[in-house]
Amino acid sequence: MLIDFHTHAFPEKIAPKAIEKLSFVSGGLDPYTNGTVVGLKESMKKGDVAASVVLNIATNAHQQKNVNDFAISINNNKDIFAFGSVFPFSDDALCELERIKDNGLKGVKLHPDYQGFNVDDMRLKPLYKKISELGLITVFHTGLDYGFAPPYGATPEKMATALEWFSTPVIAAHWGGINCGEEVIKHLCGKNIYFDTSMGYAMMPKYYAEKIMALHTPDKMLFGTDTPWHTPQMEMRLLDTLGLSDDDKDKITHKNAQKLLGINK
Ligand SMILES: [Zn+2]
Repeated sequence: MLIDFHTHAFPEKIAPKAIEKLSFVSGGLDPYTNGTVVGLKESMKKGDVAASVVLNIATNAHQQKNVNDFAISINNNKDIFAFGSVFPFSDDALCELERIKDNGLKGVKLHPDYQGFNVDDMRLKPLYKKISELGLITVFHTGLDYGFAPPYGATPEKMATALEWFSTPVIAAHWGGINCGEEVIKHLCGKNIYFDTSMGYAMMPKYYAEKIMALHTPDKMLFGTDTPWHTPQMEMRLLDTLGLSDDDKDKITHKNAQKLLGINK
């Protein structure tokens, strides 16, 4: 069984433009779905994925409410677990977090580069505190981002500082940080943080995948793809080369996710 902790989908109306824009700024990444929820579900079916976490990102204060309205509209906490998002420095970010919680979403996604902040900025402490009080899960984009120039807002070192300010689960996407193997090992492995496996295939050298898995623990790894940019089949190909026990594979592919999302079976 597979639960995919890192996917994206957009409202039907804006999906073609959103996909084209994201692909262009990232150097021409080839999308594997049309960017809609229907497209995501087709990909899930092909990849035998039982449930997906759909990560939404508010890239400005003005967009925040619409982004969360969309997340609420597609969320069913069965096969689609949509996460909300807040623009960290917007006036109503804390209220919007309450609305996210009240509408049954299980977490939020924050993307420091698309949202223009550093994860270890002290001014974010009240936001992280509110997230923790509400019991929400937080997914951070971590490491490099192909659409931006350095410096990056969520390096593993900055993430390690921010982690101290949370009391609810934090997920560092992309194996703890895209193209940051050494830094992930130095600053995050062994800490109370989850990594998702998204964008690993053909991007994360196998050496680091094995080392991070050994030093961190399969108990804190979550299967993720970053659909539409990678597919479930691609990320499974990488995992299948790591010599994992059946028990560990079960934890990574669905059991850890079931616990986090509160799915009973
Ligand atoms: Zn992503």
